Amino acid sequence: MKLNPHIAALPAGYLFAEIAKRVKMYSQEHPEADILKLGIGDVTRPLSAYVAGKMADAAAAMATKEGFHGYGPDYGYDFLINTIIEHDYVPYGVNLTEEEVFISDGAKSDVGNLQELFAPDAVIAVTDPVYPVYVDSNAMAGRLGEYQDGKWSRLVYLPCNAENGFVPSVPEEHVDVIYLCYPNNPTGTVLTKEQLKPFVDYALRNDAVIVCDSAYKAFITTENVPHSIYEVEGAEKCAIECCSFSKTAGFTGVRCGYMVIPKALMGDVNGEKISLNRMWQRRSSTKFNGVSFPVQVASAAVYDEQGWQEVMESIAAYRENARIIREGLEKAGCTVFGGVDSPYVWMKTPNGMKSWDFFDLLLTKAHVVGTPGEGFGPSGEGYFRLTAFNTKENTIEAVRRIVSVL
Ligand code: PLP
Repeated sequence: MKLNPHIAALPAGYLFAEIAKRVKMYSQEHPEADILKLGIGDVTRPLSAYVAGKMADAAAAMATKEGFHGYGPDYGYDFLINTIIEHDYVPYGVNLTEEEVFISDGAKSDVGNLQELFAPDAVIAVTDPVYPVYVDSNAMAGRLGEYQDGKWSRLVYLPCNAENGFVPSVPEEHVDVIYLCYPNNPTGTVLTKEQLKPFVDYALRNDAVIVCDSAYKAFITTENVPHSIYEVEGAEKCAIECCSFSKTAGFTGVRCGYMVIPKALMGDVNGEKISLNRMWQRRSSTKFNGVSFPVQVASAAVYDEQGWQEVMESIAAYRENARIIREGLEKAGCTVFGGVDSPYVWMKTPNGMKSWDFFDLLLTKAHVVGTPGEGFGPSGEGYFRLTAFNTKENTIEAVRRIVSVL
């Protein structure tokens, strides 16, 4: 049996497994330790009761003759697509047609599956540190070369660090695909329209495509931070946008997201211009049968007045936690980034400590778990991620403990 050598050669899913292993070992040796987790990237607050009610109604309707729904449209129901366009795009001056929005089971599937559209030898660029799915999904397709000393030989890394203010430079060489994620996981930082524009200009000049992961856009509050890459002129000719209800509406366990592939976006196959929208339609109709009807009803209900009010209460609570972390650490003299338009706070480890050493220090002395920056890529070394998804009480207590250790 011949297997995919690229999947077999992937480095082990090291980061969260290693964190879990270290926490487990410490807990076994110190069963009395009350460990607070600020490493989680999952939401913790319950669903909006209004939205869950709509989902329950739709599920109940499936047991009736009138309300039953079998296979839905592969790309999503029009009622959800139109609601998304009306609420997430029209207010920002972005006009989309129904055929340009694809409903999915979440942004991870979309950003992971999209690489099927790119040539086997396409050159990929990612910001560094990075959400690992962009890298690993391309590695599985054999595009990234050899993995040595924590780096892939054919991957272009665009460092984001305190020195460049977490604003990556456009690639110096030709690349075919650039993955961007804003608001960023793990750094919690954002780009303004002016800072995004060079990427759009680069992509237009180089016939490249930008895959923009906007899973955290519901956290944006700062003016001039775009809610969509299509607010930047020309982006409809070079960008795909992936969005999710996971963080917006606490849907990590419900599963719904969407992807925008504008019709104006064209790629190249042997010199012939081909529409990525058409290609994705073709790919999806073969490999995907859509998101369940009750989940699409619930997703549309997020935008109803009451649904929106309730989901924004949760976002506000996470934002408040991010503020508590950011301000608490700043007061203690730490250098911190993010945490304003994002649930993630990215701190510099004190005295240049290695990020895993800082992890061990916080685990053993403060009983707080965070995520070592090195796990997100080479430029993450010397940084540490704390998340705002725990309760307010636990967040306050965790910050108190971290500060006392520092
Ligand atoms: N994109 C980023 C940047 C994320 O951090 C996450 C989850 O943590 C996802 C996508 C996954 O989103 P979804 O739950 O919609 O698959």
